Amino acid sequence: MDYRKSLEKLAREGRLARVRSEVDPVHELAGIARAYEGGKAVLFEKVKGSEFPLSIGLWWNRDNLASLFGVDRAELPFLFSRAMQSLSQDCAPPVIVENAPAQEIVMDEVDLGKIPVPTFALQDGGPYFSNCVVIARDPDTGVRNTSIHRLMVKGKDRLGLLMDIGRHLRDYHERAEARGEPLEITINNGVDAAYYVAAITPSAAAPIDVDELGVASYLLGEPARLCRSKTVAPEGIADAQLIMEAEILPHVREPEGPFGEVSGYYAARDDRWVVRVKAITHCRNPIVSALLPGKEVWNSVGLGVEANIFQTVSRQVKGLKKVYMTHGGSHYHVIIQIDPPIDGLSKNAILATFAAFAPLQMVTAVNSDVDIEDPEEVERALATRCDPARDVIIIPGARGHELNPVTDGGFGAKMGFDCTYPVPKDRKYEKVTFRKVNLGDYEIV
Ligand code: MN
Repeated sequence: MDYRKSLEKLAREGRLARVRSEVDPVHELAGIARAYEGGKAVLFEKVKGSEFPLSIGLWWNRDNLASLFGVDRAELPFLFSRAMQSLSQDCAPPVIVENAPAQEIVMDEVDLGKIPVPTFALQDGGPYFSNCVVIARDPDTGVRNTSIHRLMVKGKDRLGLLMDIGRHLRDYHERAEARGEPLEITINNGVDAAYYVAAITPSAAAPIDVDELGVASYLLGEPARLCRSKTVAPEGIADAQLIMEAEILPHVREPEGPFGEVSGYYAARDDRWVVRVKAITHCRNPIVSALLPGKEVWNSVGLGVEANIFQTVSRQVKGLKKVYMTHGGSHYHVIIQIDPPIDGLSKNAILATFAAFAPLQMVTAVNSDVDIEDPEEVERALATRCDPARDVIIIPGARGHELNPVTDGGFGAKMGFDCTYPVPKDRKYEKVTFRKVNLGDYEIV
């Protein structure tokens, strides 16, 4: 299903709000989006200064996503897990589509100003693309990489770029730059959610020699559809709403930021990488796609990470039931649900979870009688099942995430809370339960 069809499906199901009034992309658009965060997706039909409408919020509600993927909400991380696992099997390579919808119209002159790009938070340094799928090729092996990076609009054909430590795109760029060469990329906006899942696949599941697009093919049920670019070597996504063909310049750094990040804090302005856009193509009447940093990222990172953690930890530790990345934890806190068959395994599971996703700062383990999406139930387990003298694990001086302000550029401690009861379960840990009833059977006014 392409992006437009996804929006149409959400609209039919009452999951899309349409904003008819003209909205300023500077601060006003994000202010409205913020009011809807976690609920309906939003389509801004008229964005000041642009002919194209803009949508936001496809990822901030797991029920909306479940509807798009045609599965139950609880099934989503497992679907993503199977998709990521499929990378280790032989999967059909992407196909190249001639006359791709994404290339129906070629912009006469590259002008990023024609695209609606929101300035989100009040102290942001400028307008940002926050959910474009970037495709590049390894300068040595030619293996494709698919990833998402924030991009600040700096001029008609110029973008500022952030590449975190450890990202494959940064590795590609460093090798190209050492030869004094630019790294060519395509920047794809408004893509089927399957491509987005491919782009958020953690490197633990897709190492540098693996093409993440296999994840998209698995979810699409057919090979990913790409198109040959007009000015650069890497392909674009044939069914994208809009594609920017571009290159990351060697030995050029310019100020980028600040940007209100997913951590809930501003990433500081600093000299960072620069992208020059060489061509822009789009489908007829494109709907540009944006993402509000927050729940959309916690869900998207969460669903990818939950799947990968479930897969890797299950291989090492018995009794794992579920994994959830909390929204309060800004993607630095994961709760695992586990009924360990013998004492001690819950702590092994906590360590394995840290190993499965490096940015994590906290891991909490609870039993299967705790609803891991309910912060009150988790807190109750923390207060009544975690013995602070025995069940708190602190790992000082580890590598976390540089956007987490409590770390020193990513260097800091990690902390685990074992809130599982000892094995075998003592009767004192039996939770109070009540008879299940159907309120519809009663006359209640
Ligand atoms: Mn990769």
